[in-house]
Amino acid sequence: MPPMGDLLTIDEALALVLERVRPLPSERLPLAAAAGRVLADDVLARVDLPPFRSSAMDGFAVRAEDTPGTLPLALRIAAGRPAGRPLARGETMGISTGGVVPDGADTVVPIEVVVDRANSVEFPHAVESGANVRPAGGDVRAGHAVLAAGTTLSAAHLGAAAAAGAAELACYRRPRVAILSTGTELRRPGEKLEPGQIYEANSVLLAAAAGGAGAEVERLEPVADDEWALRVALERGLRADVLISSGGVSVGPHDLVRSVGGELGVEEVFWRVAVKPGKPVSFGVRGRSLVFGLPGNPVSALVGFELFVRAALRALQGDSEPGPRFLPGSLASPLRRLGSRDQLVRARSSVEGGATVLCPLSGQDSHMIVRAAEADALVHVPRGEGELTAGEAVRYLPLS
Ligand code: AMP
Ligand code: MG
Repeated sequence: MPPMGDLLTIDEALALVLERVRPLPSERLPLAAAAGRVLADDVLARVDLPPFRSSAMDGFAVRAEDTPGTLPLALRIAAGRPAGRPLARGETMGISTGGVVPDGADTVVPIEVVVDRANSVEFPHAVESGANVRPAGGDVRAGHAVLAAGTTLSAAHLGAAAAAGAAELACYRRPRVAILSTGTELRRPGEKLEPGQIYEANSVLLAAAAGGAGAEVERLEPVADDEWALRVALERGLRADVLISSGGVSVGPHDLVRSVGGELGVEEVFWRVAVKPGKPVSFGVRGRSLVFGLPGNPVSALVGFELFVRAALRALQGDSEPGPRFLPGSLASPLRRLGSRDQLVRARSSVEGGATVLCPLSGQDSHMIVRAAEADALVHVPRGEGELTAGEAVRYLPLS
């Protein structure tokens, strides 16, 4: 066993994980099914946007040089139906927002600033040429980029793709994730606890977290610390793109996940990281499957997920910035550093004077999931001497 000083740092471990990730194949999806997915190909505009010179206002199309004055009203143009002929010198056409500005017209005068006399329109003021006319291609030109591969699709991205004429998008497949809780002591919530038993918390926690990171999740039946049962369960989980187990990766006699995984052909990439909580985390691969062995304490499992698993799930989906995405903040109260391990401290964030202030919570033990559930931030406390003082700049991971 390597001495503590030789443990991998968080960044080293994360790099080893990301090195093993290959983005999954892509699939074509209708726009409406693509929210939150990661784009596999650039999206180019099919048309100019707007596709034609269009009116920005309900009003009257004119040549600016014909104002001020009273002009005969030739016709009224509705959105969706072009006028059918150019605007002649000395006349006006009624036009709606989004209507095709007729050739010959250079300006639209809003309805509010004219006097509409049914067959003629009075323009009391001279208007500026070009006002209220949206040029064709003013948002984007046909053939130009609308969205870049690697973008995680937001509502606005989907709107942009639709407006530019894309009906389907190539998106990376979602990773299939199997989640396995291990521990003889675990019972399902709702069952009766016998002495020595506890409720199983990790599978629902990890399933929600993985789902939030874009995965398709299968929760396997929790399994006892029994070699045979574990072999069956791990083999099942290894069919997924990613197997996330919890428990059984520490140094006790019942911690069998790594050894059974090894028997099943999982190549261990690392075990143990200089982090608190979550030190005994393991990572390995078998074929194309990624295998995370998170420690059993629920807060350790949560931290291990946020540091390593979420980034892997995002990278599998082709996310160009898989994270973890630390943000800057400052501490509300001091925190003691540890000599040998970085810590991720549960905290509540607030905004003061435009900056994020992080207030560490009481109850930082790794079994205290109820305390941790109050946190919306994990503060990174680098290892070292002494303490971080109140007001000190830190970085933190937001928890959603
Ligand atoms: P282990 O990593 O197996 O040594 O487990 C560490 C601690 O976490 C033990 O107290 C376990 O009872 C607890 N634990 C393990 N798995 C879970 C789980 N799925 N839900 C809640 N607690 C767990
Ligand atoms: Mg255990």
